Formats: sequence, structure tokens, C-alpha cells
Amino acid sequence: MNKKIKFIFCIICFILSCVSVFLINFIDLFPKNYLIVIIFSFLFFNILIFLFNIFNKKVLNIIGIVLEFILAIIILFLFFSPIKIPVLTYHDFTLVNPTNEMQINKKVFEKQMMYLSKMGYKTLKLKDIECFIESKCNLSRKSVLITIDDGWKSELEIALPILKKYNLNAVIFYLGENVDGKNQNFMNLDDLKRIEDEYDNIEIASHSYSLHYDDAYMLDLSEFVSDMKKMKKVVNSKYYAYPNGMYSQKYMEALEKEKYSLAFTFGQNNTHRKLTQKDNRYELPRLNFSTDMPLWKFVLRLNWYK
Ligand SMILES: [Zn+2]
Repeated sequence: MNKKIKFIFCIICFILSCVSVFLINFIDLFPKNYLIVIIFSFLFFNILIFLFNIFNKKVLNIIGIVLEFILAIIILFLFFSPIKIPVLTYHDFTLVNPTNEMQINKKVFEKQMMYLSKMGYKTLKLKDIECFIESKCNLSRKSVLITIDDGWKSELEIALPILKKYNLNAVIFYLGENVDGKNQNFMNLDDLKRIEDEYDNIEIASHSYSLHYDDAYMLDLSEFVSDMKKMKKVVNSKYYAYPNGMYSQKYMEALEKEKYSLAFTFGQNNTHRKLTQKDNRYELPRLNFSTDMPLWKFVLRLNWYK
């Protein structure tokens, strides 16, 4: 291969590398770490030059070009692929080792939140999801929605200070029946007021008033409606998470009747996938992050879950 052709190939590779860098930044995949991407792209570019100049073998030139094109295609694919939002779900928090699948240790949770913060993830509000589902706005690919179910006392004592520390938004799906404070494991009315006063990064939404038991999703329309009316007196939110993620056609009809805007599932028919713009507003999927897991597993789940 003569020098002129080599030079042209190098220029093409250089342009492709620049376009890749631009696209990666543009699609918001690596916001605060784009320097790494630039370094990698140029490293790749240099490897190609190395291949072109040191070895004078046609096959190496072809491999270099093919690799560069594959990279460009991957970037283009990412650019045009639909936006998917991971909705993380937590439950109970603990200072010691978790005793069940619903608990996560404070340190493990803090590491995860620190990661989200450091990597520049935007933690969404429920109205952002609503706007996205209604196709009225787009979201950054680097967004997550953090949800915490049930309203355990540990949410207030352990999770909320961490979320505040890292300036992250989150939603608590509260179970209304605990508002009287009889069950000490859960937050009461005073706790809810405290959250309202001290944590403007936290939204409180509905997890039903008293439907957190097996088979509750099989009730009649009127029973769902009366539970929702009761709940609105405790937490007046238009956002809902089905207890245990279990829902039915009648359940969805009741939500519509009571003018709920969004409802999140968990379990039944739910394959634990990310949320897309095509999802039904009353069948929004979530991902379970309740249990302890090493940070690499958290990152993997966050990025590679479908
Ligand atoms: Zn629950």
C-alpha cells in the first residue's frame, strides 16, 4: 500500500475517532468521564497509525479499518437506540448485615449513591417520568429514578441523610396504614412532616393505604377506589406503586378513576427491565436493588439490564 493511501486511511480514522468522541459526549453516556473516552479514542487512533506504519501488512490495515468502523457503528447504534431509564427500588436499610432480601446495608447503599453522584447521573423527579411517558419531553440517557418502598423507619434514619449528602432525588412509596405510628418499624405522620420540612429532594407517593398483602390485587374496583380515597387523605399524590408489584385490570381502572398519573409495578409480568417511553403509564417497570451487592454488580445491573 503506498504512502498516499495510508495517509488517507489515517485521516479517515482520525475523523471517525473525533466523530465518536463527539457522539459519545453528545448522547450523554459518560458525562463526567468524557476525558477517558477522548483518551481511549485517540489511543485507538494511535494504535491504527502504529499498525499502518510499523507493519506493512495488508491484513493489519484491514483489521484496523474494520475495528474503527465497528466502533463507529456501535456509537451510532447507541445514539439511535431508545432511551431506557433504570428505576431502582429499595426497601429497608440496616447498619448491620441484612437478615432478609429486602434489606441493604448502609455502607453498600452509600457506595451506590456515591457512584451515581460521581458519575454525574441525574436523579429524576416523578414529574420527569410523567413528562417522558407522555412524550412531552426527553430525558438524558444518564438518568435514574430512585424509589424506596413501604416507608420503613430506616429510610428516614439511614437512607435520607445519604441521599441528601450526595444531593440525589428519590421517591418514597408510603403505605398509608402506618401513619398512626402503631407499628414502630414504619414512619408515622410526624416522620412524613419531617421529610416534608427537611428534605426537598424527597417525594412521597402512594403504596396503597392497606393493600400490602397477598391477593390484594384481586379485589373489586370499588374496594381499590375506597382504599385510594383513604390514601389521598394521608398522601395526596398522583403517583402509585402497587404493593408487591401485583396489579390487575380492575386495579388500573381504579387508578384511572382516581386520576393517578403513573403506577409502578414489581413482580407479576414484570421482567425487571428498564422503563421506556412506550411503556403503559400504569405498568411502569422497576429494577430490584434491595439486597446487598458488590459495587461492580450494581454498575453492571445499572448499565446492562435491558
Ligand atoms: Zn412494598
